[in-house]
Amino acid sequence: MLSIFCSPSRYTQGKDSTASLGQEMRVLGLDGPALIVASASPIARLAGRWRTSLGAAGIAYTVHRFGGECSPKEIAQVEEAARAGRSQVIIGAGGGKVLDTARAAAASLTLPVVCCPTLASSDAPCSALSVVYSETGEFLEYRIYRRNPDLVLVDTQVVAESPPRLLIAGMGDALATWFEAKTCVAGRVKNMRGGASTLSAAALAELCYRTLLADGVAALRALETRTVTPALERLVEANTLLSGLGFESSGLAAAHAVHNGLTAAPGTHGFFHGEKVGFGLLVQLVLERQPSDVMTEVLGFSSAVGLPVTLAQVGLAELPRDVLAAVAARATAAGETIHNEPFPVEAPMVAEAILAADALGRDWQRQHS
Ligand SMILES: [Zn+2]
Repeated sequence: MLSIFCSPSRYTQGKDSTASLGQEMRVLGLDGPALIVASASPIARLAGRWRTSLGAAGIAYTVHRFGGECSPKEIAQVEEAARAGRSQVIIGAGGGKVLDTARAAAASLTLPVVCCPTLASSDAPCSALSVVYSETGEFLEYRIYRRNPDLVLVDTQVVAESPPRLLIAGMGDALATWFEAKTCVAGRVKNMRGGASTLSAAALAELCYRTLLADGVAALRALETRTVTPALERLVEANTLLSGLGFESSGLAAAHAVHNGLTAAPGTHGFFHGEKVGFGLLVQLVLERQPSDVMTEVLGFSSAVGLPVTLAQVGLAELPRDVLAAVAARATAAGETIHNEPFPVEAPMVAEAILAADALGRDWQRQHS
């Protein structure tokens, strides 16, 4: 098996980096007209800065207001708008669904794409895939693209003004990266691009974990005063770049499969991807029989930043046996990344591990309340 590492062509991050969007595009030879895809609130917040920055770079653009779901219909509308405007590049600005839609439309028109995440709530912005849903929000498919984004530009002042719960969710997604990467590296299984991991991807995944432990709590405090601090800068890089490169180029394992399983329980629907991944990681650690010092470190971090450590904290205070069985069945479906674990994983094992992780989390809370 060949080793494969992939990443965006350029990653730019910093306070008020939106002011440099036009210049950053110019450096890469990305010319207008551009189509910006964004929801109402980023449009209201960033329109003035786009005008100045893209104007100074001589990049003409139009803005397409995002309809709210990364669905085939919405993707088709963005493609239509890009065709009508003879767009040469698509810029997505907002949360995960907006960026996924921009990527999907750009891929089908073979146009370059720029991702400007306004949240650090998941590690999706740097990746070459989208999650596509029906208009009513049911999961339809993963779309995998040939290329990662041409540019990912993160304005940390915008992230500093975002809701804390979304930054915490991003930490949950990033917390699992190193543990899932380690499992994939040890088993020499395929990463998300069909190759073996590299020393580079594994090192980035480990740095992601160390950065969370060092800066997670302080970064969260920076959001209280909406201030860009060095800790927030490092944490945003961990949630977005380190976790993104780590998961895509090393691979996923049980934590993300348990997340997918949890989506089968309606009680979890009000919770973010990263929150469910955070609990999924505890289940992975139980399945892998990780030593108690590893468990203690992860539980300590999760509790300190407010990530869920119990079923009740992901909306499952009550978990009937049939729902638990459905969650475990979904987590162990054929093709799930849980099968990257170095031992055969069956649904009953996962059901047991979910209950054991919940018991450990509740025990932790009792001892530290
Ligand atoms: Zn994830």
